[in-house]
Amino acid sequence: MSHFMLLFKEYRMIIVAAILVLANIIWYVRNRSQKKKLGEIVLPPNAAQLLTENVPFYNKLNDKNKAIFEARIKDFLAHTTVRGVEVEVDELDRILVASGAIMLIFSFPDWKYNNISEVLLYPNSFDRDFSQDAPQRNVLGMVGDGAMHREMILSKASLHASFSNPADGENTVLHEFAHLIDKADGATDGVPEYLLSKSQVLPWINLVRETINEMRKNGRSDIDFYGSTNETEFFAVVTEYFFERPDKLKEHHPELFSMLEQMFHPPATAKK
Ligand SMILES: [Zn+2]
Repeated sequence: MSHFMLLFKEYRMIIVAAILVLANIIWYVRNRSQKKKLGEIVLPPNAAQLLTENVPFYNKLNDKNKAIFEARIKDFLAHTTVRGVEVEVDELDRILVASGAIMLIFSFPDWKYNNISEVLLYPNSFDRDFSQDAPQRNVLGMVGDGAMHREMILSKASLHASFSNPADGENTVLHEFAHLIDKADGATDGVPEYLLSKSQVLPWINLVRETINEMRKNGRSDIDFYGSTNETEFFAVVTEYFFERPDKLKEHHPELFSMLEQMFHPPATAKK
């Protein structure tokens, strides 16, 4: 055996160890840069302008909260894909979906939606076969179950309508994300347990039932009548109302308003 081979034999273990260490370093660096990519989802340069022009909630925030809002929609978009089905998805679409999601949980800095990975955008309202919602409703959005678990479907038309007229009290995006918040505790039942203290659960259930009964008895209401379908839809519908027309809700249903304010305490209404 040559002197060289002897040396090689002696150092073989060291060489193998060095290769292993090198492989580990390469894996670590690659893995790290991939993770960084996820965190580096960039908002378009005109994001602040798009938000200012389209999202009244954002407009009412102070500068510090505006920056937080932007960071949180960015984080939401890093974890949730917005994909078009036979429709183009542009930057404004993404920003509107993320804004609806973050508006509801803005006062909970640590809250992340763990129960959604993808939002599908359809051109127009889609067939009711997609939905577990009541048959009369022209379906504008839905949160998936079963095979559609972790998916949300929205129509692009309703996405834009949601933000184009804040005074109408309707916002399909808020409606669907309210269902996700309700669903987060394991039961989509109109009782969002993460937003309620233990002592608030029963008063909330009672207030919801009372109001639904009143709606049914009168056959009409300033609350979207779809809310009288059941407790789940009621929660989604009054969440829309609360964020779009807090003043009107406070005037007509002070008790509901007060409970929703305690649940969401958004900065915009907390000032009042
Ligand atoms: Zn619904």
